[in-house]
Amino acid sequence: MAFVTGLTFGGQEWTPQFINSIDPAKCMGCGRCIKVCAQQVLGLAEFEDEDDMLRMVAEISNKDRCIGCQACSRTCAKRCISLEPKKI
Ligand code: SF4
Ligand code: SF4
Repeated sequence: MAFVTGLTFGGQEWTPQFINSIDPAKCMGCGRCIKVCAQQVLGLAEFEDEDDMLRMVAEISNKDRCIGCQACSRTCAKRCISLEPKKI
């Protein structure tokens, strides 16, 4: 299976990992992923948890803008962001 790849400045090939999903049950709504994303892909949304409590969590609001940099996932202490390469 072939995936979209890019090149570093030095010409090395790398495979971007694009945002796929955010687990709202794990997310604590800290907003770090939203701040670190330079592409404005992420936002906050209300989520009703298993105790019927409403709280704010991160959501994917503009996936088409994602460049696959992985910064959001690296900054998330709760590891609730999953990424995937894009098939060609
Ligand atoms: S960094 Fe992780 S825990 Fe914080 S808002 Fe983003 S997804 Fe949720
Ligand atoms: S992979 Fe990069 S561009 Fe995509 S949502 Fe995460 S921080 Fe934003």
